[in-house]
Amino acid sequence: MSPLSPEASRPAQASSQGAPGDAVALYEVAPRDGLQNEARVLPLEAKLRLIHGLVGAGFTDIEATSFVRPSWIPQLADAAELMRELAQVDGVNFWGLVPNARGLERALDAGLRHVATFMSASETHNRKNVNRTRHESLAILRDVIGTAKDDGVTVRSYISTVFGCPFEGAVPIKDSVRLAQSLIDAGADIIALGDTTGMADPILVQRVIAAMVAGGVPVSRLALHMHDTMGTALANVLAGFQAGVRTFDGSVAGVGGCPYAPGASGNAASEDLAHLFGAMGVFTGVDLDQAARTGATLATDLGRQLPGRYHRFWLGTRVRAETDRPAQTAKSA
Ligand code: MG
Repeated sequence: MSPLSPEASRPAQASSQGAPGDAVALYEVAPRDGLQNEARVLPLEAKLRLIHGLVGAGFTDIEATSFVRPSWIPQLADAAELMRELAQVDGVNFWGLVPNARGLERALDAGLRHVATFMSASETHNRKNVNRTRHESLAILRDVIGTAKDDGVTVRSYISTVFGCPFEGAVPIKDSVRLAQSLIDAGADIIALGDTTGMADPILVQRVIAAMVAGGVPVSRLALHMHDTMGTALANVLAGFQAGVRTFDGSVAGVGGCPYAPGASGNAASEDLAHLFGAMGVFTGVDLDQAARTGATLATDLGRQLPGRYHRFWLGTRVRAETDRPAQTAKSA
Protein backbone atom coordinates (compact mmCIF):
# COMPACT_ATOMS: atom_id res chain seq x y z
CA MET A 1 0.00 0.00 0.00
CA SER A 2 1.30 3.43 -0.86
CA PRO A 3 1.66 5.66 2.19
CA LEU A 4 -0.36 8.27 0.33
CA SER A 5 -3.27 6.01 -0.60
CA PRO A 6 -6.67 6.67 1.05
CA GLU A 7 -6.29 3.40 2.94
CA ALA A 8 -3.46 5.00 4.86
CA SER A 9 -5.88 6.99 6.98
CA ARG A 10 -8.07 4.03 7.88
CA PRO A 11 -8.00 2.59 11.38
CA ALA A 12 -5.06 0.36 12.08
CA GLN A 13 -7.06 -2.85 12.24
CA ALA A 14 -8.09 -2.39 8.60
CA SER A 15 -4.44 -2.74 7.60
CA SER A 16 -3.77 -6.19 8.94
CA GLN A 17 -2.71 -7.72 5.63
CA GLY A 18 1.02 -7.09 6.10
CA ALA A 19 3.57 -9.87 5.75
CA PRO A 20 2.99 -12.82 8.10
CA GLY A 21 4.28 -11.86 11.52
CA ASP A 22 4.28 -8.21 10.56
CA ALA A 23 2.74 -7.02 13.79
CA VAL A 24 3.73 -4.88 16.72
CA ALA A 25 2.54 -4.73 20.32
CA LEU A 26 1.59 -1.30 21.61
CA TYR A 27 2.07 -1.01 25.36
CA GLU A 28 -0.18 1.69 26.87
CA VAL A 29 1.32 3.81 29.63
CA ALA A 30 -1.23 6.64 29.90
CA PRO A 31 -2.87 5.57 33.19
CA ARG A 32 0.51 5.40 34.94
CA ASP A 33 3.28 7.32 33.16
CA GLY A 34 0.82 9.76 31.63
CA LEU A 35 -1.23 10.60 34.70
CA GLN A 36 1.70 10.77 37.11
CA ASN A 37 3.04 13.71 35.12
CA GLU A 38 -0.27 15.58 35.09
CA ALA A 39 -0.96 18.32 37.61
CA ARG A 40 -4.64 17.41 37.98
CA VAL A 41 -5.32 14.30 40.04
CA LEU A 42 -8.06 12.31 38.32
CA PRO A 43 -10.75 10.66 40.44
CA LEU A 44 -10.99 6.88 40.32
CA GLU A 45 -14.04 7.06 38.09
CA ALA A 46 -12.13 8.99 35.38
CA LYS A 47 -9.22 6.54 35.56
CA LEU A 48 -11.62 3.66 35.06
CA ARG A 49 -13.19 5.50 32.12
CA LEU A 50 -9.71 5.87 30.60
CA ILE A 51 -8.69 2.26 31.17
CA HIS A 52 -11.97 0.78 29.95
CA GLY A 53 -11.68 3.01 26.87
CA LEU A 54 -8.19 1.67 26.19
CA VAL A 55 -9.40 -1.91 26.66
CA GLY A 56 -12.25 -1.21 24.24
CA ALA A 57 -9.77 0.17 21.72
CA GLY A 58 -7.91 -3.14 21.74
CA PHE A 59 -4.89 -2.47 23.95
CA THR A 60 -3.94 -5.73 25.68
CA ASP A 61 -1.01 -4.46 27.76
CA ILE A 62 -1.80 -1.45 29.93
CA GLU A 63 0.39 0.02 32.63
CA ALA A 64 -2.44 0.81 34.99
CA THR A 65 -0.80 2.28 38.07
CA SER A 66 2.22 2.50 40.31
CA PHE A 67 3.08 1.02 43.68
CA VAL A 68 5.65 3.60 44.65
CA ARG A 69 4.97 5.25 48.00
CA PRO A 70 1.63 7.13 47.64
CA SER A 71 3.17 10.31 49.10
CA TRP A 72 5.67 10.36 46.19
CA ILE A 73 3.01 10.23 43.50
CA PRO A 74 -0.36 11.33 44.88
CA GLN A 75 -1.85 11.04 41.39
CA LEU A 76 -1.65 7.24 41.70
CA ALA A 77 -2.32 6.78 45.42
CA ASP A 78 -5.48 4.77 44.67
CA ALA A 79 -3.56 1.84 43.11
CA ALA A 80 -5.11 -0.97 45.18
CA GLU A 81 -8.64 0.37 44.80
CA LEU A 82 -8.15 0.78 41.04
CA MET A 83 -6.92 -2.78 40.63
CA ARG A 84 -9.91 -4.09 42.61
CA GLU A 85 -12.21 -2.35 40.15
CA LEU A 86 -10.35 -3.92 37.20
CA ALA A 87 -10.30 -7.46 38.60
CA GLN A 88 -13.12 -8.62 36.33
CA VAL A 89 -11.52 -7.45 33.07
CA ASP A 90 -10.38 -10.47 31.04
CA GLY A 91 -7.82 -10.78 28.27
CA VAL A 92 -5.74 -7.75 29.29
CA ASN A 93 -2.42 -7.64 31.07
CA PHE A 94 -2.48 -4.85 33.65
CA TRP A 95 0.99 -3.80 34.70
CA GLY A 96 2.01 -1.99 37.86
CA LEU A 97 5.22 -0.07 38.46
CA VAL A 98 7.16 -1.25 41.51
CA PRO A 99 10.19 0.54 42.99
CA ASN A 100 11.32 -2.02 45.59
CA ALA A 101 10.34 -5.10 47.61
CA ARG A 102 7.61 -3.21 49.49
CA GLY A 103 6.11 -1.98 46.21
CA LEU A 104 6.18 -5.51 44.80
CA GLU A 105 4.43 -6.79 47.91
CA ARG A 106 1.68 -4.19 47.51
CA ALA A 107 1.36 -5.03 43.79
CA LEU A 108 1.06 -8.75 44.49
CA ASP A 109 -1.49 -8.06 47.25
CA ALA A 110 -3.50 -6.07 44.70
CA GLY A 111 -3.51 -9.08 42.35
CA LEU A 112 -0.98 -7.89 39.77
CA ARG A 113 0.68 -10.59 37.66
CA HIS A 114 2.72 -8.14 35.56
CA VAL A 115 5.11 -5.66 37.15
CA ALA A 116 7.60 -3.10 35.88
CA THR A 117 10.81 -2.06 37.60
CA PHE A 118 12.85 1.04 36.78
CA MET A 119 16.31 2.50 37.10
CA SER A 120 18.53 4.72 35.01
CA ALA A 121 21.50 4.04 32.78
CA SER A 122 23.17 7.25 33.98
CA GLU A 123 24.40 7.69 37.55
CA THR A 124 23.17 11.26 38.08
CA HIS A 125 19.64 10.62 36.84
CA ASN A 126 19.39 7.49 38.96
CA ARG A 127 20.51 9.36 42.08
CA LYS A 128 18.09 12.23 41.46
CA ASN A 129 15.20 9.93 40.58
CA VAL A 130 15.47 7.28 43.31
CA ASN A 131 18.16 8.67 45.62
CA ARG A 132 20.42 5.65 45.15
CA THR A 133 23.52 4.79 43.16
CA ARG A 134 23.05 2.55 40.14
CA HIS A 135 24.87 -0.17 42.06
CA GLU A 136 22.41 0.07 44.96
CA SER A 137 19.41 0.15 42.61
CA LEU A 138 20.55 -2.92 40.72
CA ALA A 139 21.02 -4.87 43.96
CA ILE A 140 17.47 -3.99 45.04
CA LEU A 141 16.00 -4.81 41.64
CA ARG A 142 17.76 -8.18 41.51
CA ASP A 143 15.83 -9.14 44.67
CA VAL A 144 12.56 -7.67 43.40
CA ILE A 145 12.83 -9.44 40.05
CA GLY A 146 13.88 -12.70 41.69
CA THR A 147 10.91 -12.62 44.07
CA ALA A 148 8.51 -11.75 41.25
CA LYS A 149 9.80 -14.55 39.02
CA ASP A 150 9.61 -17.07 41.87
CA ASP A 151 5.93 -16.11 42.07
CA GLY A 152 5.45 -16.60 38.31
CA VAL A 153 4.98 -12.88 37.67
CA THR A 154 6.05 -11.31 34.36
CA VAL A 155 8.64 -8.55 34.74
CA ARG A 156 9.42 -5.62 32.46
CA SER A 157 12.48 -3.63 33.48
CA TYR A 158 12.75 -0.05 32.34
CA ILE A 159 16.14 1.48 31.80
CA SER A 160 15.82 5.28 31.71
CA THR A 161 18.21 7.74 30.03
CA VAL A 162 19.55 5.11 27.59
CA PHE A 163 19.65 7.67 24.77
CA GLY A 164 20.85 10.62 26.81
CA CYS A 165 20.73 12.05 30.32
CA PRO A 166 19.41 15.54 31.12
CA PHE A 167 22.33 15.96 33.57
CA GLU A 168 25.21 14.07 31.96
CA GLY A 169 24.42 14.33 28.26
CA ALA A 170 25.45 11.32 26.17
CA VAL A 171 25.31 8.00 28.00
CA PRO A 172 27.83 5.28 27.05
CA ILE A 173 26.00 2.52 25.19
CA LYS A 174 28.08 -0.11 26.99
CA ASP A 175 26.61 1.06 30.34
CA SER A 176 23.07 0.40 29.09
CA VAL A 177 24.06 -2.96 27.60
CA ARG A 178 25.70 -4.08 30.83
CA LEU A 179 22.65 -3.02 32.81
CA ALA A 180 20.28 -4.81 30.42
CA GLN A 181 22.39 -7.97 30.70
CA SER A 182 22.25 -7.79 34.50
CA LEU A 183 18.48 -7.33 34.52
CA ILE A 184 18.00 -10.22 32.08
CA ASP A 185 20.29 -12.36 34.23
CA ALA A 186 18.16 -11.43 37.25
CA GLY A 187 15.11 -12.77 35.36
CA ALA A 188 13.54 -9.74 33.65
CA ASP A 189 11.39 -10.80 30.71
CA ILE A 190 11.38 -7.48 28.87
CA ILE A 191 13.87 -4.62 28.84
CA ALA A 192 12.20 -1.30 28.02
CA LEU A 193 14.73 1.22 26.76
CA GLY A 194 13.64 4.71 27.79
CA ASP A 195 14.42 7.94 26.00
CA THR A 196 13.64 9.96 29.10
CA THR A 197 13.95 13.44 27.60
CA GLY A 198 13.61 12.74 23.89
CA MET A 199 17.33 12.92 23.14
CA ALA A 200 17.43 9.88 20.84
CA ASP A 201 17.91 10.02 17.09
CA PRO A 202 17.26 7.18 14.62
CA ILE A 203 20.94 6.34 14.11
CA LEU A 204 21.54 6.17 17.87
CA VAL A 205 18.48 3.93 18.26
CA GLN A 206 19.91 1.51 15.69
CA ARG A 207 23.35 1.58 17.34
CA VAL A 208 21.90 0.88 20.78
CA ILE A 209 19.78 -2.02 19.54
CA ALA A 210 22.69 -3.51 17.59
CA ALA A 211 24.87 -3.28 20.72
CA MET A 212 22.16 -4.92 22.84
CA VAL A 213 21.83 -7.81 20.40
CA ALA A 214 25.62 -8.18 20.14
CA GLY A 215 25.69 -8.24 23.95
CA GLY A 216 23.28 -11.17 24.08
CA VAL A 217 20.03 -9.28 24.77
CA PRO A 218 17.53 -10.70 22.24
CA VAL A 219 15.72 -8.06 20.21
CA SER A 220 12.46 -9.92 20.95
CA ARG A 221 12.88 -8.95 24.60
CA LEU A 222 13.39 -5.26 23.92
CA ALA A 223 10.73 -2.55 24.03
CA LEU A 224 11.17 1.10 23.14
CA HIS A 225 9.76 3.85 25.35
CA MET A 226 10.27 6.97 23.27
CA HIS A 227 9.48 10.55 24.19
CA ASP A 228 8.45 13.24 21.74
CA THR A 229 10.04 16.12 23.63
CA MET A 230 11.50 17.61 20.45
CA GLY A 231 9.37 15.88 17.85
CA THR A 232 11.52 12.82 17.10
CA ALA A 233 9.52 9.99 18.71
CA LEU A 234 8.01 8.53 15.54
CA ALA A 235 11.29 8.67 13.62
CA ASN A 236 12.97 6.82 16.49
CA VAL A 237 10.17 4.27 16.69
CA LEU A 238 10.51 3.58 12.97
CA ALA A 239 14.27 3.11 13.39
CA GLY A 240 13.58 0.64 16.19
CA PHE A 241 11.04 -1.22 14.07
CA GLN A 242 13.54 -1.48 11.22
CA ALA A 243 16.10 -2.82 13.71
CA GLY A 244 13.68 -5.58 14.73
CA VAL A 245 11.94 -4.24 17.84
CA ARG A 246 8.25 -5.15 17.96
CA THR A 247 7.05 -3.62 21.24
CA PHE A 248 6.52 0.12 21.55
CA ASP A 249 5.23 2.21 24.44
CA GLY A 250 2.77 5.02 23.95
CA SER A 251 0.27 7.06 25.92
CA VAL A 252 -3.10 7.92 24.46
CA ALA A 253 -3.23 11.52 23.16
CA GLY A 254 0.41 11.86 24.25
CA VAL A 255 -0.66 12.49 27.84
CA GLY A 256 2.10 13.12 30.37
CA GLY A 257 4.54 15.94 29.93
CA CYS A 258 8.29 15.96 30.28
CA PRO A 259 9.30 16.58 33.93
CA TYR A 260 12.52 18.27 32.77
CA ALA A 261 10.94 20.64 30.29
CA PRO A 262 7.66 22.25 31.38
CA GLY A 263 5.29 22.58 28.45
CA ALA A 264 7.09 20.06 26.25
CA SER A 265 5.58 16.80 25.03
CA GLY A 266 6.34 13.61 26.87
CA ASN A 267 5.40 10.11 25.80
CA ALA A 268 4.94 9.13 22.18
CA ALA A 269 1.20 9.24 21.48
CA SER A 270 -0.45 5.84 21.08
CA GLU A 271 -2.75 7.00 18.26
CA ASP A 272 0.31 8.30 16.36
CA LEU A 273 1.96 4.88 16.71
CA ALA A 274 -1.22 3.04 15.72
CA HIS A 275 -1.67 5.30 12.72
CA LEU A 276 1.96 4.99 11.60
CA PHE A 277 1.97 1.20 11.79
CA GLY A 278 -1.51 0.95 10.30
CA ALA A 279 -0.39 3.06 7.34
CA MET A 280 2.57 0.71 6.84
CA GLY A 281 0.30 -2.36 6.91
CA VAL A 282 1.66 -3.52 10.25
CA PHE A 283 -0.96 -5.03 12.55
CA THR A 284 -1.40 -3.42 15.98
CA GLY A 285 -4.79 -4.76 17.09
CA VAL A 286 -5.76 -1.20 18.04
CA ASP A 287 -8.94 0.48 16.79
CA LEU A 288 -7.64 3.93 15.98
CA ASP A 289 -11.00 5.67 16.16
CA GLN A 290 -11.81 4.15 19.54
CA ALA A 291 -8.35 5.09 20.82
CA ALA A 292 -8.86 8.67 19.62
CA ARG A 293 -12.27 8.81 21.30
CA THR A 294 -10.64 7.68 24.56
CA GLY A 295 -7.92 10.33 24.20
CA ALA A 296 -10.53 13.03 23.65
CA THR A 297 -12.43 11.99 26.78
CA LEU A 298 -9.20 12.05 28.75
CA ALA A 299 -8.39 15.58 27.55
CA THR A 300 -11.84 16.65 28.79
CA ASP A 301 -11.30 14.93 32.14
CA LEU A 302 -7.89 16.59 32.54
CA GLY A 303 -9.23 19.94 31.41
CA ARG A 304 -6.34 20.65 29.09
CA GLN A 305 -5.22 20.24 25.50
CA LEU A 306 -3.09 17.16 24.90
CA PRO A 307 -0.25 17.07 22.38
CA GLY A 308 -0.81 13.89 20.32
CA ARG A 309 -0.74 14.66 16.58
CA TYR A 310 -3.43 12.17 15.56
CA HIS A 311 -5.41 13.20 18.64
CA ARG A 312 -5.45 16.80 17.41
CA PHE A 313 -6.23 15.75 13.84
CA TRP A 314 -9.14 13.66 15.09
CA LEU A 315 -10.49 16.49 17.27
CA GLY A 316 -10.22 18.77 14.23
CA THR A 317 -12.38 16.46 12.15
CA ARG A 318 -14.95 16.52 14.97
CA VAL A 319 -14.94 20.32 15.11
CA ARG A 320 -15.44 20.35 11.35
CA ALA A 321 -18.36 17.96 11.66
CA GLU A 322 -19.88 20.08 14.44
CA THR A 323 -19.61 23.34 12.45
CA ASP A 324 -21.21 21.67 9.41
CA ARG A 325 -24.10 20.29 11.42
CA PRO A 326 -26.03 23.46 12.44
CA ALA A 327 -26.41 24.50 8.79
CA GLN A 328 -27.92 21.13 7.90
CA THR A 329 -30.15 21.22 10.97
CA ALA A 330 -31.38 24.68 10.01
CA LYS A 331 -32.25 23.51 6.51
CA SER A 332 -34.16 20.50 7.71
CA ALA A 333 -35.99 22.38 10.47
MG1 MG B 1 7.47 8.14 29.63
